[in-house]
Amino acid sequence: MNDAGPAAQGDDTRAVRAGLPEPVKYEPTLPGPVFAAHFHLPGEPTGPYTYGRDENPTWTHLERAIGELEAPGLDGVETLAFASGMAAVSAVLFSQLRAGDAVVLPSDGYQALPLVRTQLESYGIEVRTAPTGGDAQLDVLDGARLLWIETPSNPGLDVCDIRRLAEAAHARGALVAVDNTLATPLGQRPLHLGADFAVASGTKQLTGHGDILLGYVTGRAGGAMTAVRRWRKIVGAIPGPMEAWLAHRSLATLALRAERQSATALAVAETLRDWPEDLGVRYPGLPDDPSHTVAARQMRRYGCVVSFTLPTRARAERFLEALRLVDDATSFGGVRSTAERRGRWGGDAVPEGFVRLSVGAEDPEDLVADVRRALRESAE
Ligand SMILES: *Cc1c(COP(=O)(O)O)cnc(C)c1O
Repeated sequence: MNDAGPAAQGDDTRAVRAGLPEPVKYEPTLPGPVFAAHFHLPGEPTGPYTYGRDENPTWTHLERAIGELEAPGLDGVETLAFASGMAAVSAVLFSQLRAGDAVVLPSDGYQALPLVRTQLESYGIEVRTAPTGGDAQLDVLDGARLLWIETPSNPGLDVCDIRRLAEAAHARGALVAVDNTLATPLGQRPLHLGADFAVASGTKQLTGHGDILLGYVTGRAGGAMTAVRRWRKIVGAIPGPMEAWLAHRSLATLALRAERQSATALAVAETLRDWPEDLGVRYPGLPDDPSHTVAARQMRRYGCVVSFTLPTRARAERFLEALRLVDDATSFGGVRSTAERRGRWGGDAVPEGFVRLSVGAEDPEDLVADVRRALRESAE
């Protein structure tokens, strides 16, 4: 074991040990989920554990683990777990913004952001949007209280320069939040790049089995995080102990999964790029992708999502139907590959034939062969 602590260890080592308590004789390595609405609490009602909406020991272990992965070596950082990614996203936006404030969102971000926008506007908050690519959000920063970044963006996979945007935002007195769902903490460390908050859905690759919803916020401890904690208490969007425990168990394999899934995603992206038809493939790890230069500076792995565009909706539907190893399903990041025609939801500005493919942990050769066969069969 490396004596310099988690910050000096490799990703695999940190992932398998993240958040584990000191060993206690006859206790399990990772204590089981604590199912408790309340705790024995005689006398003064002080924590750490009072009532189940405020704190839970199973969350504490998970929050420590995520903090060790998101911000290794950074002092004074706090993580809060939430019931879903959107609970975490909303906790930051609604706890930090007041009527009369302005916020900058990406115009090409997660499909629920337009709903959030409407809600923010109904509270008298000014919402400005700009695309992720080309750091276009820089142009609308003046006077904003908060900058919300999503990089790589879902589903278009554009990338922006977190450090550059964070510096510009801080120079104008704005806070910076980065949605780190697609990259995961092992792909990118927003706090190290200058952001105030890393926010993510743990529903996707972080937990990786497509069986739980979860979210988290990691931020510099202090006033801003106190407001996020207060918001969680007010809204009550807390994770169940079972979900929190399953998430923690899944973190142990995050490095293994992320490594395999991003390597296979690159192989799939190369297959699509080299296909005789022009499929407009996007993957930040492809050296010729428009995002690659910035991505290579700030990302340590390029993620498991590849996007591309088939010429028509019918062709995309035939392609998805022809796949045998890839489930036609939404979400991404799981150990089983999934793909979907993103336009079917109507929320993203994408062409009808746009496909978002999430690469799982299958053998790369099998997956590439399946994609090639489905491309051929769907063309006929
Ligand atoms: C899925 C997702 C969310 C929302 O997470 P849920 O767990 O579904 O609430 C937020 N941001 C991004 C980028 C996502 O992909």
